Amino acid sequence: MAEQLRLMAVHAHPDDESSKGAATTAKYVAEGVDVLVVTCTGGERGSVLNPKLDRPEVWANIAEIRRAEMDAARAILGVEQAWLGFVDSGLPEGDPLPPLPEGCFALQDVAVAAGPLVRLMREFRPHVVTTYDEEGGYPHPDHIMCHKVSVAAFEAAGDAERYPELGEPWQPLKLYYDIGFSKGKILALHEAILATGAESPYAEWLTRWDDRPDKGPRITTRVECAEYFTVRDDALRAHATQVDPDGFWFQVPMDLQQRAWPTEDFELVRSLVDSPLPESDLFAGVRATSHAR
Ligand SMILES: [Zn+2]
Repeated sequence: MAEQLRLMAVHAHPDDESSKGAATTAKYVAEGVDVLVVTCTGGERGSVLNPKLDRPEVWANIAEIRRAEMDAARAILGVEQAWLGFVDSGLPEGDPLPPLPEGCFALQDVAVAAGPLVRLMREFRPHVVTTYDEEGGYPHPDHIMCHKVSVAAFEAAGDAERYPELGEPWQPLKLYYDIGFSKGKILALHEAILATGAESPYAEWLTRWDDRPDKGPRITTRVECAEYFTVRDDALRAHATQVDPDGFWFQVPMDLQQRAWPTEDFELVRSLVDSPLPESDLFAGVRATSHAR
């Protein structure tokens, strides 16, 4: 019998696991893969984005509320979840940008901050790890730090000489970056909406696209997961303080999303197995070898 497959998805804040690659994790759970979401910070400095919950008693208990929201989202996605315990850096705004708050995740030494993740990789023993690209997917300091510690831990976890006090070495076989937004995807959604005669919420986004590089050409792996988009949205709504249920993300009709772009997309950046690209499965090349491990 083949060994149980395991996927680790490393995220910066509670709610990121429900907006980035969420349908992919729900799909693998449904297929019997063990999925562990790792949340680097407690999301203590997130804003309250749901006007109905922007109330003093919510702000007073935000850390506790975000933990409860994460529990609800975890149950909806069917994943296991672990906190790394770092403190949210917040998204600095202003010109010049204010300094990051003392002690926050983004100010930690990468080699030190990677330690708890190395320990988790050695305990959970994932075959596949997903994280953000070098720009964090979007440039929040915690997302960039999440990228750095994920790469550092992926490279150290299998090395017996690194972090010897943090458990038996375990080398994950593949590392992916989540590519949430490619120009092709936004354009496909935009055109599908226009074809229905409705107004597209992506129009303004597309006019601003020239300022930023298109990550579409970096995609190596497209995971078909349209039937889990509803699970993704349910999990995202469970982070009730963080999403406006009447907002942008929920305006696009589900059947249109499922038709126009039925995949979540990733870039394979490290692989210790043979898997011809492009792929449609994060475990391509792993399924054949994992029985031996
Ligand atoms: Zn985040």
